[in-house]
Amino acid sequence: MAKIECIYCGDLFEGSPRHKNQTCCRRKECQNAKKAAWQRYKLMTDPEYRANQHSSQKKWCQEHPDYWKQYRENHPEKAERNRILQIIRNRRARSKDGISKKDTALIAKMDASKPDKFEIVGQFWMVPVIAKMDASKINIIRIPECYP
Ligand SMILES: [Zn+2]
Repeated sequence: MAKIECIYCGDLFEGSPRHKNQTCCRRKECQNAKKAAWQRYKLMTDPEYRANQHSSQKKWCQEHPDYWKQYRENHPEKAERNRILQIIRNRRARSKDGISKKDTALIAKMDASKPDKFEIVGQFWMVPVIAKMDASKINIIRIPECYP
């Protein structure tokens, strides 16, 4: 049987004769990515699934009222990242053509400088617009003139 290239990790794997149109290998990371992609698709296309997910998440949040507050306190970087990504999501939702010119304006200086050996003169998030990837935080630093 011909080997199949996994769409997540790119490795070649032996496809099962019982499953046609296989696209994903058996690695746990790839199976998780496949499941997450299925859930994203289902949330976009199935209003009933979306409503069920929403109500079960709401119920869980009511049972664990301090979870997200604690999470944000313990992960200030993640909270900042989410704040920025939410601004982008809000702008996308407002713009009818998906990617608006406002999104490009978000790739801009975010913070004032912080004192350090290498002075940070600005920060921004690189946010992939097309591919499903994580955003990356970029620090712009001033290199002292004496630095070799
Ligand atoms: Zn894989």
